[in-house]
Amino acid sequence: MEGILTSPLLNLIAERQMADSQDLEAIQGEHNMSGAAIPKLLHDQGLLDTASQLELVAEYLGTDVIDITAIEFTSELLELIPMDVAKNYQCLPIGLDGETLHLCLADPLNPTALDDLAYQLNRPLQLRVADSLAISKLVDDKYTDAEGYDELIEAMGGADGFEEEAEVKPEDEEPQALEILEEVGDEAPIVRFVNMVLYQALKDQAADIHFEPFEDTYQIRMKVDGSMKMLTPPPKELAPAISSRLKIMAGLNIAERRIPQDGRIAERIAGRELVFRMSTLPTKFGESVVLRLLDSSNDDLMSLEALSIPEKVDESIRHCVVQPNGVFLVTGPTGSGKTTTLYACLRMLNTIDTKILTAEDPVEFPVEGIVQCHIVEAMGMTFAKALKSFLRQDPDIILVGEMRDLETASIGIEAALTGHLVVSTLHTNSSTEAITRLLDMGVEPFMISSSVNGVLAQRLCKTVCKRCKVNTPMTADQKQMLKLTEEEVLGDIYYGTGCDACGHSGYKGRRGIYEMLQMNDEVRDLIANRTPALELRDRCVAAGMQSLRMDGLRLMFEGVSSFEEVMKYT
Ligand SMILES: [Zn+2]
Repeated sequence: MEGILTSPLLNLIAERQMADSQDLEAIQGEHNMSGAAIPKLLHDQGLLDTASQLELVAEYLGTDVIDITAIEFTSELLELIPMDVAKNYQCLPIGLDGETLHLCLADPLNPTALDDLAYQLNRPLQLRVADSLAISKLVDDKYTDAEGYDELIEAMGGADGFEEEAEVKPEDEEPQALEILEEVGDEAPIVRFVNMVLYQALKDQAADIHFEPFEDTYQIRMKVDGSMKMLTPPPKELAPAISSRLKIMAGLNIAERRIPQDGRIAERIAGRELVFRMSTLPTKFGESVVLRLLDSSNDDLMSLEALSIPEKVDESIRHCVVQPNGVFLVTGPTGSGKTTTLYACLRMLNTIDTKILTAEDPVEFPVEGIVQCHIVEAMGMTFAKALKSFLRQDPDIILVGEMRDLETASIGIEAALTGHLVVSTLHTNSSTEAITRLLDMGVEPFMISSSVNGVLAQRLCKTVCKRCKVNTPMTADQKQMLKLTEEEVLGDIYYGTGCDACGHSGYKGRRGIYEMLQMNDEVRDLIANRTPALELRDRCVAAGMQSLRMDGLRLMFEGVSSFEEVMKYT
């Protein structure tokens, strides 16, 4: 399990042997799963309190810890770091010592931030250490952007140079028009305005941002928790400059405004690497642009090591996906983490000499080096169609979002039999049901037995809060509900009594449970004979397969999850 800790702080703690490595790995896993801040997790779960964390970091960086709440943030002090820089890097100015600016960073262990900042602020810096949550909160409180946003709009409205740009219409595009667009797209107020919109989207956790030109107005709306929120509209004449700026960021052709274009924007905002999928659409009143936020700040979210998969299952998965051909299936209901597991596999296989194509509905995680194709069934772009065209592109590995019909399954299996590795998902409850589902669709038994390398079934169970965890013996009822004999009861079970750390729910984070059906001669025979689902299942378990229930029981007796969760998901 080497390399599982991607957080510098956790690595530092591990290096100093200040906590048990398994506990640290659990924190990393929980962070990957829930996105909760690592310092907070460490504190809440009682591994290392905030004060000791800060001391450790300060000692490591050769500086000291300060109480940031005791500092008076005057406007002179705040002006030492411009708002967009403070927000992007989550940093606060503390004071000046001659030319040297003392500052705090929410993520002081970020190896490049200090150099970047010294360059951007153009002065020597001295890092001090303070509580990261307090820093982020102060950045938000002290640098209020509502004012900045409106001021910026005003500043842009008054700026010269944008007027003539507004005259540029697609139909009378002249040679110099392109240069004007490029210039305007790089104008500082436009750059700052667009950054501010993106920052606002991150802060509000918006799912997408719509830039929409109308006859007299230019609307900017964001979808937040399913409903649309409108920003103060910038002057309509800035619309071409704003869409040009977005197109420059996405690397699109800014001269082309008559056909729709698709691209991606990757920007570091508020200390996080954000990825937006962008599409443009020409409309009667100008270009409409939609950005969809794909948050990939949890890069480690998608590594196989970070998923806490039991060793035997992990080995089995690796064995299935390193084959040059065959089918690897992951099954489970919606929200069981299937796509995350498949992506973890792809990331492991994603090397320079491997060509990977994916067909997804929708593309969930953009990955560098993988060609991802968005399935729109309504427009005739089906999984089956995408698969057929993929085969002409000579890929090594193909991800099919879902094998939902016979046509897709057949083409996928054909591809697997002709030298491709195909990974996909199915909506079934167990690994063995995936086989019977394929048979029910009409796939021939020998096609399944000769192509499928393995089937993984999975669920995500809530994990018991470590802060308020207590143990209790199982009741007779509980034993009966899980059909456990006395020998199978391995000890007490655990639950959370509820505390501040878990919002009084008794649970914090989630952990996967897994059931892996690995293909072998015996299973092949069973499939060839069209063995019914239940019998197939019993035979596989008898041959050593760990069922979802068994894996759930393991987590229950280890105190990771609860009786209720195991009952619910297995
Ligand atoms: Zn709790």
